[in-house]
Amino acid sequence: MAGLGVSGSALPGVRDRRENSEIGAQLHELISELYPISRSLTGDGVRETLRRLGELIPLEVHEVPSGTPAFDWTIPKEWNIRDAYIEDPSGRRVVSFADSNLHVMGYSVPVRRRMPLEELREHLFTLPEHPEWIPYRTSYYEENWGFCLAHAQLERLPQGDYEVCIDSTLGDGYLSYGECVLAGQQPDEILISTHVCHPSLCNDNLSGVAIASLLARALSSIEHRYTYRFLFIPGTIGSITWLSRNEETAALIKHGLVLTCAGDEGSSTYKRSRRGDAEIDQAMEYVLASSGQPFAIEDFSPWGYDERQYCSPGFNLPVGCLMRTPHGRFPEYHTSADGLELVTPRALADTFGKCLATFELLERNGVYVTLNPKCEPQLGKRGLYGAIGGEPDKRLAQMAILWVLNLSDGGHSLLDIALRSGLPFETIASAASRLLEHELLRRLEAPLRTQSA
Ligand code: ZN
Repeated sequence: MAGLGVSGSALPGVRDRRENSEIGAQLHELISELYPISRSLTGDGVRETLRRLGELIPLEVHEVPSGTPAFDWTIPKEWNIRDAYIEDPSGRRVVSFADSNLHVMGYSVPVRRRMPLEELREHLFTLPEHPEWIPYRTSYYEENWGFCLAHAQLERLPQGDYEVCIDSTLGDGYLSYGECVLAGQQPDEILISTHVCHPSLCNDNLSGVAIASLLARALSSIEHRYTYRFLFIPGTIGSITWLSRNEETAALIKHGLVLTCAGDEGSSTYKRSRRGDAEIDQAMEYVLASSGQPFAIEDFSPWGYDERQYCSPGFNLPVGCLMRTPHGRFPEYHTSADGLELVTPRALADTFGKCLATFELLERNGVYVTLNPKCEPQLGKRGLYGAIGGEPDKRLAQMAILWVLNLSDGGHSLLDIALRSGLPFETIASAASRLLEHELLRRLEAPLRTQSA
């Protein structure tokens, strides 16, 4: 069984082209399969999504009853919808839920009425600036109902009385979320969290759902040091619910990523954890910088996705957010144009590879202590002097050994040493392995924190 990062696997994340195109196709296919399902904060669409993911990965589904407190929040009522439509004065069905689940505002209460267009208009949402697109709207915490449609269609609706039907239920039920835990050699955890509450929208956020699922599948067949915990949860209330039920487990999370908007053709964007200098921040930035592609790093702000909850002061977990084009900065965001064409196999595979490269780096990173702190050990008599690797790599490997010996004082991780020396992490990690073999280093098993170099 292969181990994550134990062999000389390519860091940071440049995998071979054939493998990338295969994973890209699989990610896009999974998105296409999940796309028609009518998801919301709660309800059967989320269950159906989790059931499908459960065929790919070991997934435990939790059901939390409506009314359950979660810190300052309460688990909402469960919402389900069978059908919805608007019929014009001639009885023609002009808007139908069957055509797009975006047509109904999420959490719309049941309605069956006849009303004039003027009254109906108060419940119709459009995007005048993109007249052909259907907007995505919800009203989770305020009882209301509404339809979303293309602005061009609204403008064509004739005056008169309309038949309006929303065949939904909103009542006591459950909030469903999925959890996949892959036990590692140690209890310390890496958290990957993604939201599953959006209906037919791809970048936000079936991209995150698909990438997290296939990451879990990939990690389930290889050995790893960390325990990996994947959460598939409704946005905001899901992470609040999980944290309120898992305070002890949360303390084991050493690194975390929220995955969202991860499949468009824009360049990668990483939003740092609230701590700003956590090991995940350092590792993610290293992987993006080493990718040779454009990327952006943003500081934490309490606006965005579930990182807001993981990074609330009572938890302050080292959880960042990996995206491509951030939410709200692509015009298709929260509209029907966030469809299957906006996410590409290439971009999905690229984000997937960067996640895997970051995990590999975290797996191999660590803090070591030299067992020979007073002056350099004599490398020549151990065959470690000028005798490593092929000719072009010799000097780098030699420098890496000297850097690792010098900075392994218990206060620098291998990544710190890579950054300070300017040498590739892979070279530094290989040097540390050699020094371990020669009993010149000892690994500090539980480094309290990673210092910047
Ligand atoms: Zn969203």
